[in-house]
Amino acid sequence: MVTRADIGVIGGSGFYSLLDDAEEIELATPYGPPSDVVTVGRIGSRSVAFIPRHGRDHRFPPHRIPYRANLWALRSLGVRQVLAPSAVGSLRAEYGPGAIVVPDQLVDRTSGRTQTYYDIDGAVHVSFADPYCPAGRSTAVASARAGGWETVDGGTLVVIEGPRFSTRAESQWFAGNGWSIVGMTGFPEAILARELALCYTSISLVTDHDAGVEAGQGVTHDEVLEFFAQNVTRMRTLVSETVQSLPEERTCPCGSALDGIKLPFELP
Ligand SMILES: [Zn+2]
Repeated sequence: MVTRADIGVIGGSGFYSLLDDAEEIELATPYGPPSDVVTVGRIGSRSVAFIPRHGRDHRFPPHRIPYRANLWALRSLGVRQVLAPSAVGSLRAEYGPGAIVVPDQLVDRTSGRTQTYYDIDGAVHVSFADPYCPAGRSTAVASARAGGWETVDGGTLVVIEGPRFSTRAESQWFAGNGWSIVGMTGFPEAILARELALCYTSISLVTDHDAGVEAGQGVTHDEVLEFFAQNVTRMRTLVSETVQSLPEERTCPCGSALDGIKLPFELP
């Protein structure tokens, strides 16, 4: 394979126009095809592979996204750092729509999603105490602040199974635990990236207040889509700036996540 990329972006389909000299690549993985063809191109001096998380036509709901294929495809192109922009609900009154949260912790409330590559030929236990890349996080925070976003450095992302939104009681329970934002796609994406020794950074755009914070009817899908559409150009700029500011050499711990572990197969 000749086409390579250093940085992966998994995000909404508004991100296509990020890439210069773009080339579309159809990839097969041991876990089936990724969400869509992978677009590889450049942002400034950096080579980037982009996968639309839900597919170009939005055919995959959060619980059906081929997460394993997506991360595997990126790694097989040479990607070692992944940025994951997504839309989230806020659990805190003080973070309103338009805030960027770069979480440093995650709570998995999904069920029934395959969350490992290592389900045959012995167990592989990777550390997940700190699920996100520290270098990616600080780069994303700096880029968001420089872009004038209201930026929250750290916080806990709760990933729910979906596709339904939270009940008011669930939302109040999450908030009562001190957690910050709710989404549907951040897991197993984060652990699968770790299992491939990739850097992974969530860049979460608050589109609404979750049910427990909101006094009215709670969030609707139309509201989320409309808000995201209004902000897609700004998000694209933020991802582009973050890509160009990521360190070229990895000095974070992510690349050694598998050191000393005997893997049942070779990574691409
Ligand atoms: Zn890292």
